[in-house]
Amino acid sequence: MSLPPLILRKNEDRRLRAGHLWVFSNEVDIARTPLKTFAPGDAVEIRSHNGRFIGSGYVNPNSLISARILSRDPERPPDRALLVHRLDIALSLRKRLYDKPFYRLVFGEADGLPGLVVDRYAGVLVVQITTAGMERMKADIVTALAGVIKPVGIFFRNDVAIRELEGLPLYTETAHGTVPDTVMIEEHGCRFEVPLSGGQKTGWFFDQHDNRGRMLRYISGKRVLDVFSYAGAWGIEALAHGAREALCVDSSAAALTHAMHNAGLNHVTVAAREADAFDALRELRESGEKFDVVILDPPAFVKRKKDLAAGRNAYQRLNQSALQLLERDGLLISCSCSHHLPAADLLQVIQAGARHLEREAQLLETGGQAADHPVHPAIAETAYLKAFYLRAVAL
Ligand code: SAH
Repeated sequence: MSLPPLILRKNEDRRLRAGHLWVFSNEVDIARTPLKTFAPGDAVEIRSHNGRFIGSGYVNPNSLISARILSRDPERPPDRALLVHRLDIALSLRKRLYDKPFYRLVFGEADGLPGLVVDRYAGVLVVQITTAGMERMKADIVTALAGVIKPVGIFFRNDVAIRELEGLPLYTETAHGTVPDTVMIEEHGCRFEVPLSGGQKTGWFFDQHDNRGRMLRYISGKRVLDVFSYAGAWGIEALAHGAREALCVDSSAAALTHAMHNAGLNHVTVAAREADAFDALRELRESGEKFDVVILDPPAFVKRKKDLAAGRNAYQRLNQSALQLLERDGLLISCSCSHHLPAADLLQVIQAGARHLEREAQLLETGGQAADHPVHPAIAETAYLKAFYLRAVAL
C-alpha cells in the first residue's frame, strides 16, 4: 500500500537529496498537493516535481517544517520494523562508546528518527517526542523500544513547550512497566541519583559527559564555582577528583537538594546557593570571593534566531562576571547549548570580558556535545553544545 504523495516544487528536492531531512512549507507544490488536505502526523511519500521518490516520512501542515523524512528506501515505509532497525543502529554506537548503560540512545534527526529523543538509565528509558508524526507512531515506538532494549520501564517526558508548535499536548506518562521517581547513574567514577518525573529535561545532561571529564585534570586542590549546577554534576565530580571546595549555584531549590544528596552519595560536601546566577555572581564579587575554576553551564539563552542579540548580551554579562571572580591563574569553563549562538561569538564575548579586566585570554581546549549526541552534517541545528576552557592571565 503506497502512501499519499507530497510533491515538491521544481529543484526543491536538491537539499533533501544532499542529506537534509526537512521539507519547508514554501518548498511544497501546494497546487498539486495542498498541505491543508493532510492532518498533522500523516505519513507521506515525498516526491520531486517530476515524480521521483525522495523519501517517506510524516507531514505537519501547521508547522514551518512541513515534513520530515524517515526513510529513503521506497521498500521501507515508516513503520515499527524501521524503528527497530534504527534503534539497533543507534544502540550499537552507544555500546561502543560506553561500557555502562547510561547515555542518550536516540538523538532525533542524527539517528534517522526526527522528533524522537530517548535517554537510557540502565533499565529505564525516558522518551521525548517533539513532532506530530512521531506522536502518531508512539505505540510502535514503545513496542520497538521494549523489544530492542527490554527495559523495566518507559517514561514519556512529553512536557516540553516546543511540542506546542506541532499542536501537541504537554504531558508525562509511564507507557511501559514501572518507572521509579529517581534512577542511579555513574559518571567519571561518581554516582548520581537522577530525578525523572521531577527533574529537568529528561533528567540528566548526558551531552556534557566528555566536557565534565575534560575538567578533571584542572581541579586538584582548587576552589570551584559550579554555576547553573542542576544536580551538581560538575561540582561533585570536581570534589571527587580532588578539588578543595565547590559551590553550586542554581535558581532551583529542588536541583540543589539533589546536588546535596548526590554529594553525600560520593562522600563529599558541596556548598549550595539558591539564587539567580547573575545576582549570585555579583554578590560573590561584592564580598570579595575568588575561585580557581568557574564553570558556566547556563540554559539556552538564544532559543530562536531572533533572540541572538539579547542572548549574546546575556552570555557577555555572565562571562564577564565569571572572569571577575577568577584567581589570577584561574580557569573559566564556559558552555553554551544555544545552537543559534555561533562558537566564535561565545569566544568573542569571553575575549572582550578578559580585555575589560586587562587580562589576556588563552583558549586551552574546546569541547562539544558527547558522541551519543551525533551531529547530522546536513542539519546545522543538530550541533548545539560548545564548551571553552580558558585561562585569563595577566601577562
Ligand atoms: N550543569 C548542569 C546542567 C545545567 S541545566 C549539569 O551538568 O547537569 C541549567 C540549570 O540552570 C538548571 O538547573 C536551571 O534550574 C538553572 N537555571 C536556569 N536559569 C537560571 C538562573 N537565571 N540562575 C540560576 N540558575 C538558573
